[in-house]
Amino acid sequence: MSEIFNVADIFGQNVFNDAVMRARLPKNVYKNLKLAISGEKELVLADADVIANAMKDWAIEKGATHYTHWFQPLTGTTAEKHDSFISAPKEDGKILMEFSGKELIKGEPDASSFPSGGLRATFEARGYTAWDCTSPAFIREDATGATLCIPTAFCSYTGEALDQKTPLLRSMDAINEQSLRILRLFGNTTSKKVTPSVGAEQEYFIVDRAKYLQRKDLIFSGRTLFGAMPPKGQELEDHYFGAIRDRIGSFMKDVNKELWKLGVTAKTQHNEVAPAQHELAPIYAQCNTATDNNQLTMELLKKVAYRHNLVCLLHEKPFDGVNGSGKHNNWSLTSDDGINLLEPGKTPHENIQFLLVLGAVMKAVDTHADLLRESASDVGNDHRLGANEAPPAIISMFVGEQLEDVIEQLIDKGDATSSIQKGKLKTGASALPDFNKDATDRNRTSPFAFTGNKFEFRMVGSSDSIAPANVVLNTIVAESFREIADELEKADNFDMACHDMIKKLFTNHHRIVFNGNGYSDDWIEEAERRGLPNITSMVDAIPALITDKAVKLFESFGVFTKAELESRVEIQYEGYSKAINIEARTMIDVAGKQIIPAVISYSTELANSVLAVSNAGADASAQKELLNDVSALLKDMKSALATLIDVTEKAGNITDASEQAKFYRDTVKTAMTQLRTPADKLEMMVDKKFWPFPSYGDLMFEV
Ligand code: ADP
Ligand code: MG
Repeated sequence: MSEIFNVADIFGQNVFNDAVMRARLPKNVYKNLKLAISGEKELVLADADVIANAMKDWAIEKGATHYTHWFQPLTGTTAEKHDSFISAPKEDGKILMEFSGKELIKGEPDASSFPSGGLRATFEARGYTAWDCTSPAFIREDATGATLCIPTAFCSYTGEALDQKTPLLRSMDAINEQSLRILRLFGNTTSKKVTPSVGAEQEYFIVDRAKYLQRKDLIFSGRTLFGAMPPKGQELEDHYFGAIRDRIGSFMKDVNKELWKLGVTAKTQHNEVAPAQHELAPIYAQCNTATDNNQLTMELLKKVAYRHNLVCLLHEKPFDGVNGSGKHNNWSLTSDDGINLLEPGKTPHENIQFLLVLGAVMKAVDTHADLLRESASDVGNDHRLGANEAPPAIISMFVGEQLEDVIEQLIDKGDATSSIQKGKLKTGASALPDFNKDATDRNRTSPFAFTGNKFEFRMVGSSDSIAPANVVLNTIVAESFREIADELEKADNFDMACHDMIKKLFTNHHRIVFNGNGYSDDWIEEAERRGLPNITSMVDAIPALITDKAVKLFESFGVFTKAELESRVEIQYEGYSKAINIEARTMIDVAGKQIIPAVISYSTELANSVLAVSNAGADASAQKELLNDVSALLKDMKSALATLIDVTEKAGNITDASEQAKFYRDTVKTAMTQLRTPADKLEMMVDKKFWPFPSYGDLMFEV
């Protein structure tokens, strides 16, 4: 029987959370830190010294030897550089354990080794990490020992953001300020702060480590680049919510335990649609913490899997032909005194504040659909968005039957006088209770769905940070709120003006609402008629970041400068090209060194068999036919390999970032597919003992 522990005891035990701060900091320092966390007052160095010292003592008691500024550069993962607490030895040869306020507040990693998209050419290489006191410090335990991790933002010498966190914090300021204006319009004088609440549902695949290590494609690119479909895929729908196998269960148990210790509220776990696919969801938290926690979750999924002789694949599409993985970003707006601005109540038609907020989100999503789409772009996600898989690349909004009815009443009649009420669900069995249904059914095909009191943005890729999506959401909604507040604050008759505003918002932006099947071809045509953008690849999505509209939006809220946006565009193109380049080179390697030699060995065996059988005077026509088929496919592979080598080299010589990315997408990826097709056919013909690595079936069904 495995270890038993009490969740309440271990939860947050490795977090320098409010309870620890209160217990360990002098009263006035604790108060000042709280003011710094709420953004009301800057922290002075003397206080930082006291906090650093308390953190150090706490960390050392928990076995920590090192500290690190933990940050999120634009590489998609987190970065850290560990320093031990030791001071220079004294005369007697003894050392002290030290950690100063300065070391807590500021770090100086070399910015030139992280993606900066040209910012480092214009500015200096120097970069700083700055303590984000709104996200609690924590201790991570792993093979390196215990390390005190301090969440930080990462900026260049001149203050340009080089990370995910800086713009996220800026966007949170923007949405806070504008949301408060909306609340004040409705007479609220008590709320002091509005924060986006975010819950990110994380999907992932688990495979056996020994098998993984035999697949160079998984090792180098995170996804399979070759592989024929096994006889069974996901068609029986027997994996989704299926009983969790022991090996996976024991891994999940460990993941939960590690996450709970770090104060991450791991809540839900289940098998997903594809074989070997699973999901983990936390309880929602404020946007910044949720983003940090999701990074930690991804990190721990990988680490703990390894310990269990498993490997966690976070790639959006590890296997062709079965579902890919995404991340559902649940988003709402919560005030410090507990108001959820997206709570419709039982009779939404009477909830004017809610309808105004809904209209504002509708306007934001309609106006900036291209930006939202861009925020969910990463190389792996191109295999999901716009590629016959959920969700589609077209941004639309699902509001459900009840709200759609209210919206239509407003648009058509100028007034909404009723809300469809939820019915009773009759089970028809006397032993089962009847219960109240939700007012609205769900729609799993919508990329942006209203789900009760939050929006669920389903486009984000499973390996991606949720920061960009939330930066965009926070900022575009802040813009809507600002425009609305600018107008309504001036109104002589608020009720009338507000009513007209809601009607205007719904009328002008209703085209973004779609409650039907988002996977159907009809929707693609319908969306085109409505003028909604359908951006099917990351390369085409990137320019959304630097349209005049986007620059104006982000600059007006101080979320991004134009230079920062341009740098991000550069980084995205570069990242795309690099990833495809790695995939292409891996395919070249695997095809040339593993598959082709294996096929040659097999065809030699076939040829010997043809000879032996013919010599024995029997009919060898079946062997001959097979040999011919194998040889023909081998020839196809050989020539496709030559083409791939050629175009990959050409791609490397293109200097313009966007041209290069397009070339990778249009030419290199096509050549990759052409190499894969004969290889996958060969896999179905060649004796398994010759095939150089585990098949899809081995990977997905034998974990
Ligand atoms: P669903 O079944 O609709 O996906 P769940 O209750 O499973 O909903 O929640 C999914 C995620 O959404 C969880 O991480 C949950 O904590 C989060 N969530 C729930 N309510 C909110 C809210 N008001 N704002 C943001 N996230 C929320
Ligand atoms: Mg969900």
